[in-house]
Amino acid sequence: MIRLRPALVISFIMITGFLIYNLWAISTDQAEISYSTFLTELQQGNITEVVIKGNQLTLKDKSKDTFVTFSPDVSALMPKLLERDVTIITKPSSEYDKLLREILIVVLLLGGWWVMSRKRVRKSIGFDSQFGKRVHTRSTVTFNDVAGTSEAQEELKEITGFLKHPERFARLGGRIPKGVLLQGPPGTGKTLLARAIASEASVPFYPFGGSDFVEMYAGLGASRVRELFDEAKKNAPCIIFIDEIDAIGGKRSGTLKSGSNDEREQTLNALLVEMDGFSTVETIIVIAATNRADILDSALLRPGRFDRQITLTLPDVKERLKILEVHAKSVAMASGVDLISISRSLPGFSGAEIANLVNEAALLAARRRKSKVDLQDFEDAKDKIIMGLERRSAVVSEKARRQAAYHEAGHAVVTMLLANTDPLHKITIMPRGRSLGLTQQVPLDDLHVFSKEYLVNRIKVMMGGRAAEELVFSEQTTGASGDIRTATDIAIRLVCEFGMSRKVGPVAFDLDQAIDGSVDPIHYQGISEQTRREIDLEIRILLTECYDETLTLLGKHTDLIHMLAESLLVNETLDSEEAEIVYRCYQKRRAIDSEKQKDSDQKRN
Ligand code: ADP
Ligand code: ZN
Repeated sequence: MIRLRPALVISFIMITGFLIYNLWAISTDQAEISYSTFLTELQQGNITEVVIKGNQLTLKDKSKDTFVTFSPDVSALMPKLLERDVTIITKPSSEYDKLLREILIVVLLLGGWWVMSRKRVRKSIGFDSQFGKRVHTRSTVTFNDVAGTSEAQEELKEITGFLKHPERFARLGGRIPKGVLLQGPPGTGKTLLARAIASEASVPFYPFGGSDFVEMYAGLGASRVRELFDEAKKNAPCIIFIDEIDAIGGKRSGTLKSGSNDEREQTLNALLVEMDGFSTVETIIVIAATNRADILDSALLRPGRFDRQITLTLPDVKERLKILEVHAKSVAMASGVDLISISRSLPGFSGAEIANLVNEAALLAARRRKSKVDLQDFEDAKDKIIMGLERRSAVVSEKARRQAAYHEAGHAVVTMLLANTDPLHKITIMPRGRSLGLTQQVPLDDLHVFSKEYLVNRIKVMMGGRAAEELVFSEQTTGASGDIRTATDIAIRLVCEFGMSRKVGPVAFDLDQAIDGSVDPIHYQGISEQTRREIDLEIRILLTECYDETLTLLGKHTDLIHMLAESLLVNETLDSEEAEIVYRCYQKRRAIDSEKQKDSDQKRN
């Protein structure tokens, strides 16, 4: 159905009215002659009839043609007309006529307004959308249709529980969460997950785009929000899904152009009021999705609003395989299509792009009149999609991937080789935001007491990325800047806060303002110039030494770096067990190598 904008309809009615008005005016528009010509004609006896309307005279001559003219003084004209025996007809003045036209316009406008005010018409032209009712759906997607997002699903299972048995949680006095924020790149299955929750809990699902709310007509966004929540309350428990919440919930700033901004702010406020408003008795869970959580207004993220945040990432190779399998189920696959190798060849693909790939491959196969989709179709579909992607520069270049793999391997190897460090949790070269990779460690325990060795080793782990890059590629990149920052922070605290430096001594300097980076601790007023220089030097020496030692350490284990990096390039993500396996392989190889070495040494002797 075509949705007409209200403004469009109103202008249409007004233009029609205006045209009718003008047509009317034209219809009375006969040939005009000058008053003097009229007098001459009258004198010659050519005029047979005069219709007088105010000062307007409509004349008929002998040949029955009509003309119009305007008389400066009608009463002075009367004797002349009578003298020439002209038929005189008088009509009310044309003022009356004008009035009539104006009334017509008012009637038209009122009529238009009346038509617009009728609910059914408003709805059909989109003036009054019945926002809530229109979109209520029951979702049929289940968790089985969503693959490779097991961490997120685990967290969301709880929500399903809330929706299914709200009374259980309410009885215990627990506060049921009202808002869940799903964040992650486009096409990672945020909408899909929200739908799956709704259908798993078998509750109604109300999906919206954030921009649906923000219209150019003031107040409409806010009233839509209210309408929606009213409707949802009637059908609770249920799920409201707001895609691209950043369209309404972006950070508020006074400097932007105000028009649509005011509107957005009103909409956002209405949303916040509604979320604060509904009680835990009405189990409404609002799930919002965004790929830009960093620009969201902090008011949205406060407790009681979107206080649960779940991050979805682009799938790694194993997750891609699962997603491929889900979508491959719906097409006829030729035997021998190796989904594993296909998923390997799709680094950086999102779930949506994988779904698209399967679909494209199926279309290609159909066009080629095959009964099954084979590897060639997949290859061609992939080429087609990647060409589209490259323009978006979503795919990381092979060189950058290698660099990231070695960088992360460097961190990991230091973690593995040094004793007093947090164990490895996960290594990945999946791009995330601006960073190309990540090495995660799990803190051993939550004791907040750290040894100096632990802190120094942490600095070394940080340096591992840069050191590996330098060893393998003999070049430095900005990819390590975050690590250097972190290492510097640790070194500063080690010297200034924990008093662990030999040279500076067991002295604590006031670091309160320095922790958040706002004030350089070295410029703290109470420290003498001499001490300041010592601190400065000490921090630099500590960092440089750590870097050099890391370089030496990694230099002795370059094979391990290569093995880990190669494994990362293939698998993209290694969990702690997988990394451990690589490490053990490496140790075994070394043992065999040193055996061989011994043998050959003995032979030589
Ligand atoms: P988002 O909301 O994060 O942009 P969607 O949920 O709209 O992404 O995903 C679009 C489509 O991509 C889905 O309909 C589905 O076909 C496919 N898709 C995305 N992620 C997955 C996944 N994890 N498992 C299976 N299919 C997925
Ligand atoms: Zn790093």
